[in-house]
Amino acid sequence: MVCKNPDQCLQITKKRYDAMEKGMDLVEDKIVQFREKYKNGEGDISFARHAAVRGLERSFNNKHILEALLNGFVMEYYYEAKSKQYQCLICYFLKLSPGVYRPVHIAVQMQSNDHLFVKTVYDPRSNPWKWNENFTNRICVCKTN
Ligand SMILES: [Zn+2]
Repeated sequence: MVCKNPDQCLQITKKRYDAMEKGMDLVEDKIVQFREKYKNGEGDISFARHAAVRGLERSFNNKHILEALLNGFVMEYYYEAKSKQYQCLICYFLKLSPGVYRPVHIAVQMQSNDHLFVKTVYDPRSNPWKWNENFTNRICVCKTN
């Protein structure tokens, strides 16, 4: 698949990223707080059944996912009014061998400052047209089917 309308998609995604700028510090702070708690043995990570299954299918193991959650950066977020929780997309590059990295995106729900709920895990290279060349920004919002 390819992007059907690159100009429009870029405009939409740029607007979304601009809107996210305002709350980004807050969301990053929440992630930092979680990491501190986790390192002190007070944090908890749980997985949607879907995430566990898909993660395995895509050959990410729990060690990869944990490394990404503890070291990645917040690429996108949104506040879900209904649950009053932030959802965010964390991006990280797993080192496979010297100079060889594999990108990973993890969608998480921040259920509290000591609990992350992993909704899904994927390698963005499986849908390359959706991302910039580093897989650090979304550039396409076309429906996949
Ligand atoms: Zn598109």
